[in-house]
Amino acid sequence: MDDFISIVGAKEHNLKNVDINIPRKKLVVFTGVSGSGKSTIVFDTIYAESQRQLLETFSAFTRKWMPRIEKPKVDAIRNISPAIKIDQKRMGENRRSTLGTATEISTYLRLLFSRAGQPFIGPSFYFSFNIPEGMCPSCHGVGTTIALDLDKVLDMNKSLAEGAIDHYQYRLGGYYLNCMKASRLFDMDKKLKDYTKEEMDRLLYLEPTRLNGEEHGVLVNVTIEGIITGLNRRQFIKEDMSERDMKYFKVETCPDCHGTRLNERALSVKVNGKNIAELSSMELTELYAFLDTISGPLTDPMVNPMKVRLKHLIDIGVGYLSLDRPISTLSGGESQRVKMARQLSCDLVDMIYVFDEPSIGLHPRDIGNLVSMLRMLRDKGNSILVVEHDPAVILEADHVIDVGPGAGTGGGNITFSGSVDALKGADTMTGKYLSSRSQNGYSRRTPSGYIEVRDASLHNLKNVSVRIPTGVLVCVTGVAGSGKSTLINDIFTARHPDAIVIDQSPVGRSNRSNPATYIGAFDKIREEFARANGVTSNLFSFNSDGACPKCNGQGFVEVEMHFLENIRVTCTECGGKRYTKEVLDLKYKGKNIAEVLEMTVDEALAFFEDKAVRHKLGTMKEVGLGYLTLGQTLSSLSGGEAQRLKLAEQLHKKGNIYVMDEPTTGLHMADVQVLLDIIHKLVKAKNTVIVIEHNLDVIKHADWVIDMGPEGGRKGGEIIAEGTPEDVAKVERSYTGRYLREMLP
Ligand code: ADP
Ligand code: ADP
Ligand code: ZN
Ligand code: ZN
Repeated sequence: MDDFISIVGAKEHNLKNVDINIPRKKLVVFTGVSGSGKSTIVFDTIYAESQRQLLETFSAFTRKWMPRIEKPKVDAIRNISPAIKIDQKRMGENRRSTLGTATEISTYLRLLFSRAGQPFIGPSFYFSFNIPEGMCPSCHGVGTTIALDLDKVLDMNKSLAEGAIDHYQYRLGGYYLNCMKASRLFDMDKKLKDYTKEEMDRLLYLEPTRLNGEEHGVLVNVTIEGIITGLNRRQFIKEDMSERDMKYFKVETCPDCHGTRLNERALSVKVNGKNIAELSSMELTELYAFLDTISGPLTDPMVNPMKVRLKHLIDIGVGYLSLDRPISTLSGGESQRVKMARQLSCDLVDMIYVFDEPSIGLHPRDIGNLVSMLRMLRDKGNSILVVEHDPAVILEADHVIDVGPGAGTGGGNITFSGSVDALKGADTMTGKYLSSRSQNGYSRRTPSGYIEVRDASLHNLKNVSVRIPTGVLVCVTGVAGSGKSTLINDIFTARHPDAIVIDQSPVGRSNRSNPATYIGAFDKIREEFARANGVTSNLFSFNSDGACPKCNGQGFVEVEMHFLENIRVTCTECGGKRYTKEVLDLKYKGKNIAEVLEMTVDEALAFFEDKAVRHKLGTMKEVGLGYLTLGQTLSSLSGGEAQRLKLAEQLHKKGNIYVMDEPTTGLHMADVQVLLDIIHKLVKAKNTVIVIEHNLDVIKHADWVIDMGPEGGRKGGEIIAEGTPEDVAKVERSYTGRYLREMLP
């Protein structure tokens, strides 16, 4: 049995006391409908237990300072190894972190310049924008400068007395404005547009000046300064400027280093005619080609490891990125692929790698490369556990574990474990969809009108003009980096602010929000409890006196770990129930509020009779979230679940434009059918639905397809084909067209 990771009696979340044998050093794919328990097995049981055992290996002395990670609910796990999680979480928000620094390629590049640069100037840190010797002195190596956005601060059509300064620090009657008035240096009643240049300069740039002013006839001593001088002094380049402050500033490319972050000395050094900033701004594919022209005993030690790393990044489908790209601007899928490429360059063996839907954001064309990477990691002697829905990945697995049959309490069992061939013959949801990918067709609708987008040229877009039909389902397709998000999320939604974006960003950070509060059902449920018990409904809120005082109604306390993710420990006072004993004694139809919060949406629909409660919960069931627990924190929802929850909130509205980015994320082939039904319902109710999507089952059902490309990055940014799926299938140059050809009848 050494060849297996053996799990005995797994009971976390919805798992039904299951035993699982997972072959080691193989590519194992976990499938099953959304909410069936795949992530609970892979992340909350195997990965969590591996982390816990790792902490146990620290000395007793060290452990004294660490919280106890609770053991996942499982009787035993045998043959486990250290695990590494490769998910879609963004890789940190540090403004200084770039693709180059995160992959260490920049380290080698600096070494290359310090050894082989013309003229030779000194140590490699002379080329680092994180160190004073290399950084641009104007922007301190950030590449951008922050300047006050006067358009946001000043209303030129008003006078100072009418509130021309639209900034909370200059409120009418507030301290600063009173000082300005008292100084008598400014005409308070003249509209700003009538100020002379001299008056304006004084208003904006006056250096701090002490003078005697007069207020209500009393002589006062005030310090007065210009608005820009003052706001800059008080808030400029605070590392953590709040959002409230940030909105008055605009970020601009640094005028001195033009965004390269480096000082003149560093930029003057060249290798084969290019300086380090020029190489950092090249697309990775171009950089690779450039490095091909450099070889020799002096440079090989730097160039070769760079090429290995670049090759991994290119193969995995992000060759259109550049080393200077800030990590904080990468999408979830891009972040995941960069993390994966990083692992390929490291020599750990006998690890467990856990992946969360690595196919996200990838065009069918690039799935083959993804699978090759997974195999490379496996062949180094690692166990690869992948949660995945894409049939193209499932079909390549060494071993498939199907979890189900349904979601939530209807799932939690292993319905199949074996080879792909055996799965095709198996009577499980995944087996059935794999052997026949047929789906009932929808008849194509004709657009009710068109919205034009003209001359879009952000990022890689090549002055794109395109018509977007309304009243239909529109799919925007193309390989990763072709410009889909730039066109739709950045350009279209900016020009049409009434479009409703339903994305996968978290629905709320507060640990007091849950699906029931989000959808608005919890208020009604609290009212039911209040009525039944003759108390106020506020008592049942997590923010009231009724909440457990120790954990403030969260049910857990969070312990900060300095070198690992924060760890949550169940509250010892309420045992995770979140309320005081007094509140828990109050019942509604025999259940207390904590018991209700533990119900799934489906269970709650069977329990409550109140119309309003049922309507709200019903929308969640409609979008396929009937398996969610009312009280689970919103942060426990996956991106796909968050997106469907937002969809539920919008479900019964009319005449809107909805924009969604890969709504099939986290969805099993069977769930995709449910999603399609919802989208078609929205369209039928005269809404326009625009989705960025790679899933061919969705694309083939679109009324209109806009295909971008042909490639990612500089070689993309054009419209390659537009029209019905049949029209696009005819276009030779379109990768999407090629795949559609095989799918259409
Ligand atoms: P899958 O990965 O197959 O989509 P999950 O493992 O995420 O499914 O979820 C399985 C079940 O466990 C679902 O009913 C889900 O709502 C529930 N669940 C997941 N995370 C939590 C959590 N943090 N707290 C409570 N229930 C959870
Ligand atoms: P898609 O959505 O088709 O994957 P994107 O619109 O995300 O493509 O990217 C198109 C191009 O624009 C790519 O070359 C990408 O690297 C670039 N890009 C996207 N976002 C940014 C950004 N915030 N800063 C700089 N370049 C970006
Ligand atoms: Zn600069
Ligand atoms: Zn508590």
